[in-house]
Amino acid sequence: MILKNVHICGGVHHESIGDLLIVNDKVVKVDSSNCNSVDNAISIKFPEDVIAYPGLINSHDHLALNTHSIFKKRVYNDYVEWAEDDFDNQKKEITNIPFELRCKWGILKNIIHGFTTVLQHDKWSENLNSKVIDVHVKPRIIHSLRFDNRWKLKVLLPSRNKKIIHLAEGTNEEMCEESFELLRYDMFPKKTVVVHGISLKEKEAKRFGGLIWCPNSNIYLYGKTAKIKELKKSLPIMFGTDSTVSSDWDLWKHINQAKESGALSEVELYNSLTEVPCKVFGLNEKGKIEDNKIADIVVSRKKENHVISSFLGQNSDDILLIIKSGEIVLLDESVLEQVKSIISIGYFERIKIKQTTKFIKFPIENLVNDIKKYYSSFKFEEYFILH
Ligand SMILES: [Zn+2]
Repeated sequence: MILKNVHICGGVHHESIGDLLIVNDKVVKVDSSNCNSVDNAISIKFPEDVIAYPGLINSHDHLALNTHSIFKKRVYNDYVEWAEDDFDNQKKEITNIPFELRCKWGILKNIIHGFTTVLQHDKWSENLNSKVIDVHVKPRIIHSLRFDNRWKLKVLLPSRNKKIIHLAEGTNEEMCEESFELLRYDMFPKKTVVVHGISLKEKEAKRFGGLIWCPNSNIYLYGKTAKIKELKKSLPIMFGTDSTVSSDWDLWKHINQAKESGALSEVELYNSLTEVPCKVFGLNEKGKIEDNKIADIVVSRKKENHVISSFLGQNSDDILLIIKSGEIVLLDESVLEQVKSIISIGYFERIKIKQTTKFIKFPIENLVNDIKKYYSSFKFEEYFILH
């Protein structure tokens, strides 16, 4: 497959215009002239100027917690207050839906927004694996100091992989002390990646291996987010959406909010969704569009002159094509005719996002109906319409 005339984001080809040759699951060639000479490869020409970026990495989500929208009755001081507020009815509704169905819904949320890799902060099973997204579960998951009574053991036991923990999620004194408490036990803090870090101080941040920033979730629940402008000097910053019980469904709203905060530059914000998590979590074949990297690629409308500004300014309806490990998993109807010969359209389902029609390789209608059996007032129509 050849993607013609795309403006590339990131990597060594950043800002160049060229053709991408994909063979099997790899990017074989990025060429600024053209790749027309390759035998048997179909070419996809886009109806307008487009950017191509690597499939995004969502460094923090709870895939099973995306069927409901934000739980919030007030602004909270910390995650303990939030977790203990009276959301019993909603929690019951969630747990009534089988875990597997909820995880599939979380996968769908991610692919619609251009993610092809997600770090799941919860249990997972191989049976839940999907071809549209990689769920990265290698890191050791520690929920938090308050809600994981085995945290000390999990921190103390040596691990080859990273550890990920919700930390300093709140604004009060207790949250300011959580890092100190964790660091008393953590012999290998460079292997520890912190999620949220709203009250994290620079001095402690320096000792950890990375921070996953979830600004939308933080501002909803606590009215405040991590001091990224200072912290970014001390540790790598990655981007996470968190689940819809604490944040908006729409990634592009999160991105816009992050951009407006000015905490990261545009390039840093882009990198927090691509190169940085790949470096921190050892996903060496992902995060850039370069020769021999995995062909996880998103093609989206080019709406502004600069490719990174265009990336940050997009919405889900702007996405025209998503390729996961060399296979098309989402397409806009404007490219349907060109790809019909290489996809089995019967496996794709049609949805409407704003005024555009997308085809996604995912059993969406059955999933919606299955979820409704357990949760009859399931509202998803504000995100997309089944076609
Ligand atoms: Zn979380």
